[in-house]
Amino acid sequence: MSARPAEAPRVRACVGLGANLGDAVATLHDAARALAALPGISGFALSRFYRTPAWGVTDQPDFINAAAAFETGLPATALLETLLSIETALGRRRAADGSDRWGPRTLDLDLLLYGDAVLALPGLTVPHPHLHARAFALVPLLDVAPDVRIPGIGAAVEVLAGMDRSGIEAIP
Ligand code: ATP
Ligand code: CA
Ligand code: CA
Repeated sequence: MSARPAEAPRVRACVGLGANLGDAVATLHDAARALAALPGISGFALSRFYRTPAWGVTDQPDFINAAAAFETGLPATALLETLLSIETALGRRRAADGSDRWGPRTLDLDLLLYGDAVLALPGLTVPHPHLHARAFALVPLLDVAPDVRIPGIGAAVEVLAGMDRSGIEAIP
């Protein structure tokens, strides 16, 4: 009798999408399609798209932000690698020294949550370290995961309730 290989445990992952260079709405649609087409993904949900003022480095064009949630058997590290390769495939170019962090970009895909995992690996921190401080990430996240909790912080809806969300507008 042949044993079937053990199936990888499935986890609900939440990804933040952002762009403020080029046709940001089209790029986010392309990125969402690429995520939904990943092998083994199920229960894919995509938020509305929001126009949001730039955060951190504010002297740059508004962003378009969205969030996706899906079930996956991919380990978190492999999922992050996949996100980075989708960014590159859709035109993201990074400065080798990281000096463009928070600067304008064609596409940014951040792993916001990976189930209830808390990870501090080289190159991967989950929950995303700024998630609880970013209304532009929490607003779309709540579209796709209204009951979600940020491990170590609390219910995302309660975190957002105490924050300034001015300037964050759903686009029709
Ligand atoms: P921020 O991480 O504050 O949103 P950013 O998205 O502009 O800033 P990037 O230049 O896109 O930052 O990414 C820098 C590095 O962050 C990536 O190479 C990646 O290894 C690392 N990183 C750590 N944790 C995460 C995560 N949860 N999601 C995405 N990237 C992460
Ligand atoms: Ca980011
Ligand atoms: Ca990023």
